[in-house]
Amino acid sequence: MNLILLGPPGAGKGTQSQRLADARGLVQLSTGEMLRAAVKAGTEIGLKAKAVMESGGLVSDDIVIGIIADRIKKPDCADGFILDGFPRTLAQAVGLDKLLKDSGTSMDAVIEMKVDDSAMIERIVGRFSCSNCGAGYHDTFQQPKTEGVCDKCGKSDFTRRADDNEETVKSRLMAYYRETAPLIGYYFAKDKLRAVDGMAPIDGVSRQIGAVLDEIQKA
Ligand code: ADP
Ligand code: ADP
Ligand code: ZN
Repeated sequence: MNLILLGPPGAGKGTQSQRLADARGLVQLSTGEMLRAAVKAGTEIGLKAKAVMESGGLVSDDIVIGIIADRIKKPDCADGFILDGFPRTLAQAVGLDKLLKDSGTSMDAVIEMKVDDSAMIERIVGRFSCSNCGAGYHDTFQQPKTEGVCDKCGKSDFTRRADDNEETVKSRLMAYYRETAPLIGYYFAKDKLRAVDGMAPIDGVSRQIGAVLDEIQKA
């Protein structure tokens, strides 16, 4: 099964993708993670993307479509993947359609995570993750079971993203409304769109997504 999780920064795409990857064996493809890895490694793509990401803008369509094109060809994606943070523009959505068509596969569903913008700043400013395994946490909404220890891997090093501050979040929200929100109409017209209430607690959102996927699998 191939899925897209769609929603503004802080909607819970990464959190739910991680859970789907664990529960259903789908591969999580986060363009944000891939770009951060490229910045860290100092590759050519990383050098191009760094300043744009720090300011909360969008990296060019060519770069991200290229990254996804290389990644979905890999054998581990054959059993299904979740796109987390891609596509983010209409040009990326059209590019993705072409990639899928060329590889003889298709998208099963686009899950729109409906949230209140006013809650996104608190979610993002409180976000952190395990430096070792990438597990996601929040100061208030998703604390590790034992303070200072990762639930998943037991390590004690955590990290916060440079762009997870209030000013940058506002630019990212604007980029979302300008460039990404039109994809809701695009996928509705293709009859792929399924909405869930992203303001529910994390477990509740997972249950809603699970119900959508079970329904699709039955159909
Ligand atoms: P996105 O990938 O869409 O930017 P994340 O999954 O990283 O969002 O979630 C942003 C922050 O909000 C994280 O710290 C996460 O722990 C927290 N979070 C995710 N889903 C919920 C939820 N349903 N309720 C409260 N907090 C949440
Ligand atoms: P969030 O889900 O919190 O918005 P991401 O980790 O998905 O954050 O993305 C972080 C940054 O990486 C974005 O603000 C943007 O600069 C860049 N980025 C990630 N995915 C894309 C994409 N598909 N197109 C353009 N830029 C992207
Ligand atoms: Zn960990």
